Amino acid sequence: MTTTMSDATRETAAGPDEAEGAVVLDRVTKLYGSAAAVDDFSLEIRAGEFLSLLGPSGCGKTTTLRMIAGFEQPDRGDIRISGKSMLGIPPYKRNVNTVFQAYALFPHMTVAQNVAYGLQERRVPKAEVRERVAEALSMVQMREFADRKPTQLSGGQQQRVALARALVNRPSVLLLDEPLAALDRKLREEMQLELKLIQAKLGITFVFVTHDQGEALSMSDRIAVMREGRIEQLADSTTIYSHPVSAYVASFVGQQNFFEGTVSGDGASVAGEYGLLRPAERITSVAPGERARVAVRPEFVEITADRPEAAANAVEGKVIGVSHLGETQQFLVQLGPDASLISRLPTPNAPAVNIGDRVWCSWRPDSVQVFSEDESVDDHGFTKPPTTTAIPTK
Ligand code: ATP
Repeated sequence: MTTTMSDATRETAAGPDEAEGAVVLDRVTKLYGSAAAVDDFSLEIRAGEFLSLLGPSGCGKTTTLRMIAGFEQPDRGDIRISGKSMLGIPPYKRNVNTVFQAYALFPHMTVAQNVAYGLQERRVPKAEVRERVAEALSMVQMREFADRKPTQLSGGQQQRVALARALVNRPSVLLLDEPLAALDRKLREEMQLELKLIQAKLGITFVFVTHDQGEALSMSDRIAVMREGRIEQLADSTTIYSHPVSAYVASFVGQQNFFEGTVSGDGASVAGEYGLLRPAERITSVAPGERARVAVRPEFVEITADRPEAAANAVEGKVIGVSHLGETQQFLVQLGPDASLISRLPTPNAPAVNIGDRVWCSWRPDSVQVFSEDESVDDHGFTKPPTTTAIPTK
């Protein structure tokens, strides 16, 4: 299979943008009619990187992937792979392969024949085909299934064959369009781990499209969160989760409690219907006197019977829901007629409270994030993480 090169080797042999497997999208726009599916989009994907394009349905993920693959041509801008412009280069002349959600295996062929097909079409010598097919099937742990037909395989096994069929070509870039979407949760999690291991072993660039934030967070070196054909934030998982740049990213990645309010004159707090909300540092993202949206993740919300004495942020409410989720417990606390708050705590530390109890919810200033008000966050048309709670304060 492809020889693994360290990033350092690749980057000294050529600049990072020219390294084998580096993908550069340079101010790319793709129009359908007058609407831009991808809008002046720039992204530099490093050689050997696992990069995910994450975003709601219709934000342009698949279009971006199809342009890298060569199935679509950009209307403006340039796409470079391993330093070479791909404008006008057909898919089969790019050193790129794509794995789709639908496995699209030939049903009348065995697993080995499916994997061999592309090589045979390219007239690769028989002995080499045999060797490369065996190698690709070993990589996805499917060698013992070589003589089976696709109908005799589970969904996860079929997806592995589809992966082997792409890997057998030894691409320097592998594009994956929601490849795990059809699998059940347990299998998905297993395959996530396997994909990551395969990628690390081969050292080839993976560009992974998903609308599943958990999948993107667990697998990627970096995530590009997309919104309406552009990148809203590009960063590693920890940064995306802990320091989202906007309410849009904050609401799309993980669960959030949102409050609304007005930034105080000294920028130290946000005044809302449920009192003052205090972040750790002076608010710079929103000017004093302006409306702001404050986010606090459920895992930072503590629940106590009495108001914690030194708490900078505390609100009182009534427990209206308790869910046992195994490792964690989730509490839904009603603050007012249309406002509630979620707290999710590790089961060993979870408070012994029941539905109907009056409790205090509190959180530390360093768990408070303040964003400018973003009206689109409530109606951006995708399924939010379950039970995200918005706190109206108008
Ligand atoms: P999903 O997660 O649903 O696949 P996506 O983020 O991959 O969504 P795209 O498939 O890239 O989104 O679509 C981006 C936008 O471009 C959407 O508004 C879509 O309706 C539009 N679009 C995509 N393909 C075409 C096409 N062939 N003709 C016209 N419009 C298209």
